[in-house]
Amino acid sequence: MKLLLATHNAKKLGELRRVVTDQQLPYEVLGLDELPAYPEPAENERTFEGNALIKSRACAAATGLPALADDSGIEVDLLNNMPGVRSARWAGPGASDQANLDLLIAQLADTAEADRTARFVCAVAYTHPDGTEHVLRATMEGHLVSTPRGANGFGYDPIFVAEGNTRTNAELTPAEKDAISHRGRAVRAMLQWLVRRG
Ligand code: IMP
Repeated sequence: MKLLLATHNAKKLGELRRVVTDQQLPYEVLGLDELPAYPEPAENERTFEGNALIKSRACAAATGLPALADDSGIEVDLLNNMPGVRSARWAGPGASDQANLDLLIAQLADTAEADRTARFVCAVAYTHPDGTEHVLRATMEGHLVSTPRGANGFGYDPIFVAEGNTRTNAELTPAEKDAISHRGRAVRAMLQWLVRRG
């Protein structure tokens, strides 16, 4: 059974494929680079769920196949939950991961580590061409350190330490991060929902 993931991100595809294989599920997972191109809508909602649904709906409508999509970001308590849905563009449209990370570090420079609580959030949406939809979210709670550490992961991983950890996300192996991450949890929960639904 074909299951689409509306992303060009090879890491996200790899992660979903690992979960599908580990759980021996009957899905062939395809990403956007393996499908005929279609006009991709702007992600202009104010919630992670809203943006994930924009992507899963567009993908299911363009292909006629069931589609998953995710939207994720980081919420910093001291910044009233920003960067939030603007995490990928925090330093401006088209900003690099490094520029976004540097800006967040600078914004928190005068705050104590104990006050830098934050969480990663991931919403995953499923749209079937028959109109069935399901959307859910998962989080990873933690805090931010002032000096980046580690070479794995991406985005804000070098300054994020998950609850119960001492290493930053960028110091975890991909498997260690998958096991606790917002995206890993959300994807596993969505696949469980799909299996239960039959
Ligand atoms: P998107 O879900 O691909 O739109 O990603 C949103 C942005 O949130 C990314 O560009 C990163 O800046 C940030 N982000 C989301 N998940 C993670 C993660 O697991 N580690 C680090 N940064 C993340």
